[in-house]
Amino acid sequence: MGKSTGFLDYEREDNKAVSPKERIKNFNEFHEALPLIERKKQAARCMNCGVSFCQSGMKIGGMFSGCPLNNLIPEFNDLIYRGNLEEAYYRLKKTSSFPEFTGRVCPALCEKACTCNLDSEPVTTRANELSIIEYAYENGLAKANPPKVRTGKNIAIVGSGPSGLAAADMLNRRGHNVTVYERNDRVGGLLMYGIPNMKLEKSIVKRKTDIMEEEGVRFITGVNVGRDITAKELKEKYDRVILCCGASNPRDISVKGRDALGIYFAVDFLRATTKSLLDSSFEDEKYIPVKGKNVVVIGGGDTGNDCVGTSIRLGAKSVLQLEMMPKPPEKRLESNPWPEWPKVLKTDYGQEEAIEVFGKDPREYLTTVKEFIKDDKGSLKKVKLVKLESKFNEETKRFSLEEIEGSEYEVKADIVLIAAGFLGSEEYVTKEFNVDIDGRSNVMTSDNYETNIKDVFSAGDMRRGQSLVVWAIKEGREVAKAVDYSLMGYTNL
Ligand SMILES: Cc1cc2nc3c(=O)[nH]c(=O)nc-3n(C[C@H](O)[C@H](O)[C@H](O)COP(=O)(O)OP(=O)(O)OC[C@H]3O[C@@H](n4cnc5c(N)ncnc54)[C@H](O)[C@@H]3O)c2cc1C
Ligand code: SF4
Repeated sequence: MGKSTGFLDYEREDNKAVSPKERIKNFNEFHEALPLIERKKQAARCMNCGVSFCQSGMKIGGMFSGCPLNNLIPEFNDLIYRGNLEEAYYRLKKTSSFPEFTGRVCPALCEKACTCNLDSEPVTTRANELSIIEYAYENGLAKANPPKVRTGKNIAIVGSGPSGLAAADMLNRRGHNVTVYERNDRVGGLLMYGIPNMKLEKSIVKRKTDIMEEEGVRFITGVNVGRDITAKELKEKYDRVILCCGASNPRDISVKGRDALGIYFAVDFLRATTKSLLDSSFEDEKYIPVKGKNVVVIGGGDTGNDCVGTSIRLGAKSVLQLEMMPKPPEKRLESNPWPEWPKVLKTDYGQEEAIEVFGKDPREYLTTVKEFIKDDKGSLKKVKLVKLESKFNEETKRFSLEEIEGSEYEVKADIVLIAAGFLGSEEYVTKEFNVDIDGRSNVMTSDNYETNIKDVFSAGDMRRGQSLVVWAIKEGREVAKAVDYSLMGYTNL
């Protein structure tokens, strides 16, 4: 532990954010790093607790708490405090494949479990992590380091999201020949074409994948496995295949008028925006135009928030975000104590921006869509909404959401973005490989990530269901170990 009174001497200080009014003018990242002298103080707040829940990554109260990667948080905080960022980088690299991604987009499960939460603010662990990796890039530590010896084993990875990339990184480092197939024109999965640029600039994704390429990982983009190339071909060509195709099957809203023009899935909207931004700074106009339009986002979660922030940047006239669940409490309830994941109200960047631009929080709780109303050309013009209430069902002994009779009302809507979650893996891939799936369409594997088909493994959202970048990285690292073991009879990964 660096400074024994650090948690008393220093207050938490977050990276400064550009004001909502300014940042909505572009799609750039909007947090400014603290200078090193201030960063050291933030690291000094870490008390190296006897029981460091921050690095536990375990299930408490039914939800995960602490870092899933088991990052050595008190150790790297101590090293930052002492100004030894080089050693901090090597310590971080032991457990984390891509701190440049998690340092930007992780919901920081570590911070929610930090002991300083008990009567103060948690340590800024995510920003500390980011400062380490950016120091490593600036000082030439994070450069390509190709393996000295090759094993001659060939591995195909399908999907270049964080799980596929983490597996590729580990297996390549071990000396195996790794080829990653990606159906999109750019690698990165949802890091590239899901998470908006203002949360994770795409140059950051490319900076890392370029290094991986230099280290020997082969990326083949624009190839859709199961359509352009068969499972049989892949299995014949490679010693092992790892399926990391994500859980990209969106949940739909089946109500009257669903065929109206102007209804899109959130990820299609976000993908088109990022692609147009990267290809031509929007000059090709190949994005879904929301300028001057009334946008309704269905889904109050993080993807919905990304749609709010993106719509505002594209000049929407109004943005309404619907959430079926009740508004969460501002503070933890007694039934949800530390170090459990806090089920509390979070006002994210997009909602902050909506408050600034439109003068109110865009979220409408306990509300859902009853009907999409079209004009005579079939275009969306309104949405009929209905309020919900939570009722206890004596038969099932469970609470359920029920419509309140007579509470219907209509709002103007030109564009609807459906961000209502995901239903698991896509059928054409799982059928092509003949792998078993569970009731949620997630690929079933043994504990060592192997599917029912010999030498075919799976990891990430495709196996786990829609989750987080940090979990995808964890699964990518774990499947790499399992594949290495199956090839070599032991693993040192
Ligand atoms: C809009 C949005 C925002 C998010 N924001 C955050 C966030 O801020 N923080 C966070 O922690 N998590 C966030 N998530 C969740 C996170 O992005 C995912 O959990 C994570 O990316 C899953 O990684 P993955 O590697 O399993 O799959 P993915 O990232 O989905 O990657 C799968 C890849 O496989 C490719 N693929 C699929 N099938 C084939 C095929 N047959 N042939 C070739 N390629 C194929 C796909 O094109 C895709 O590139 C967000 C998710 C969404 C949708
Ligand atoms: S990966 Fe996420 S949970 Fe783990 S230390 Fe970083 S910010 Fe915290």
